[in-house]
Amino acid sequence: MIITLKDKCPQQQIDHLTGWLERQGIGVHLSRGKFQTIIGLIGDVTRVDKDTLEGLDIVERVIRISEPFKSANRKFHPDDTVVGAGGARIGGGHFALIAGPCSVESPEQILEVARRVKAAGATMLRGGAFKPRTSPYDFQGLGKEGLDLLLLARQETGLPIVSEIMNSSQLPLFADVDVIQVGARNMQNFDLLRDLGKMRKPVLIKRGLANTVKELLMSAEYVMAGGNKEVILCERGIRTFETYTRNTLDISAIPVIKELSHLPVVADPSHACGAAKYVVPLALGAVAAGADGLMVEVHNNPANARCDGPQSLTPEQFDGLTDQVRRIREVVAP
Ligand code: PEP
Ligand code: MN
Repeated sequence: MIITLKDKCPQQQIDHLTGWLERQGIGVHLSRGKFQTIIGLIGDVTRVDKDTLEGLDIVERVIRISEPFKSANRKFHPDDTVVGAGGARIGGGHFALIAGPCSVESPEQILEVARRVKAAGATMLRGGAFKPRTSPYDFQGLGKEGLDLLLLARQETGLPIVSEIMNSSQLPLFADVDVIQVGARNMQNFDLLRDLGKMRKPVLIKRGLANTVKELLMSAEYVMAGGNKEVILCERGIRTFETYTRNTLDISAIPVIKELSHLPVVADPSHACGAAKYVVPLALGAVAAGADGLMVEVHNNPANARCDGPQSLTPEQFDGLTDQVRRIREVVAP
């Protein structure tokens, strides 16, 4: 349920109303937008009488929200959310370019990639330390050592770092990581999402291989319900019957999510297509469709990468991409 307040309501009356609602056991989310002040109600609102609320002096109108996601809903928070991560910002017109290797492999590799993506215009560095691999015999990542190398790369370049967590027991290791990534395979690990809701740091949630947009928004809701509002969503391709690409980038998810939610959305063209030659056109398509950022895999030596080499751009290719992204953004700017 959302309550839209009349212009220029006295703060005392707003406090009185929110206090009364909270005493009924209802969660209250106050959003002061440019044009309107809105109170979003979360929890069991079946006992709240719409007509009584509408009868109050300060209330303009009351509507029930039919969608199961509340905190993530744009109706609760009409303005875009801007997520800040170690100096970088994403959402509300701030564009994030998140780049780096699939997995951290060595100090030389991560430092070189970090320096080169930074020079090309990246705003955050990605790198997997814990890798969710389909085969247990494949490289599983460097673990804590990988996170330490990312911290070193951050120290060297100033780029905030993004890395994937696989389970809640790893949380203490992520204390200094700027953005915690929840991978596609963990999108519905509800215990993990709940634990991330207790943190006060940005969480980037990737859409599952076979999950709907609504399910992605419900995963965001798990984190937000715990009080952590710093959520970034990521469209990274879904599984379809098509086999020429690793997955199918669902470009339509971008404007759909942006309509339904105030949270920033990034696109990951690398995992969507699985082939470096398609990454640039898909990235540009996602930017044209309104993405607030991109997450792109970049490796200094893709042919010898320990994970996802075929879909990794070289630093030179990434440099060319950032230039094109800039031009597309100028064309589609409102
Ligand atoms: C990744 O970002 O390296 C990754 C494993 O992504 P996804 O969860 O989208 O497969
Ligand atoms: Mn990867």
